[in-house]
Amino acid sequence: MSEIKFAVLGQYFHCPTKGDFEYAQQALIQVNNQGTIVSVTTETDADFQAQVSTLSSNNQLIELSSTQYLMPGMVDLHVHAPQFQQAGKGLDLPLYDWLQDYTFPLEAKFADMDFTKQIYPSLVKSLLANGTTSAVYFATIHKDSSVELARECLKQGQRGFVGKVNMDEASQCPPFYIEHSTTEALKETEQFVQEVIALEGNEQQLVSPVLTPRFVPSCTSEMLQGLGELAQKYQCHVQTHCSEIPMPRTNPLLRKRLGARL
Ligand SMILES: [Zn+2]
Repeated sequence: MSEIKFAVLGQYFHCPTKGDFEYAQQALIQVNNQGTIVSVTTETDADFQAQVSTLSSNNQLIELSSTQYLMPGMVDLHVHAPQFQQAGKGLDLPLYDWLQDYTFPLEAKFADMDFTKQIYPSLVKSLLANGTTSAVYFATIHKDSSVELARECLKQGQRGFVGKVNMDEASQCPPFYIEHSTTEALKETEQFVQEVIALEGNEQQLVSPVLTPRFVPSCTSEMLQGLGELAQKYQCHVQTHCSEIPMPRTNPLLRKRLGARL
């Protein structure tokens, strides 16, 4: 058994079954050197007091006050990391115009690594401070900036699923924010996957790459096909947008690509 690094004693909520939760007024949670919870015991367990005494005498015990409690970390399944800068702003436009007028110009700025390094650390820190210990991210189309987000998650100890965004359909993407070419983008996406997997300190894959076609309208069929092949090759997760707003029926590109389903 791996060595115990520390243990926490106090009130605790746990959600092992969907729709239900457990509560214990006094629980002992032991964590090993890898940061993994190795045991949870409560007062009803026979050796509970003996374990508390041993950990206490080894200076490994953190005791919560009566107003503190432990709960599972929250998981955010959909974060647009570059949009952190505009959270709560620019809400006067519907989604499509909001993307074109506000969001794509902001995301384009992440080509600049200095800008990236100003924003992503505070985003990850802010999420962790609010209890989000795992997050599934859309980054931007920029490979190096997206890897930097993964590196930041790793550095701060957040479980991250990070995607370099892909968007190459010229009729739907502004000229200042589109892949240079589909072939180049697929090559960079494969490099992104490899670099995230191989990040220093990521031996236990705390951070994972996610293939991220932004959504159907912004990707060519060639891009979707190529990303599908990468998903098969690396067995990685895939994320996209499926049905975020009512589809604009007047959009001819959407009508052509989604056909009778519109
Ligand atoms: Zn989204």
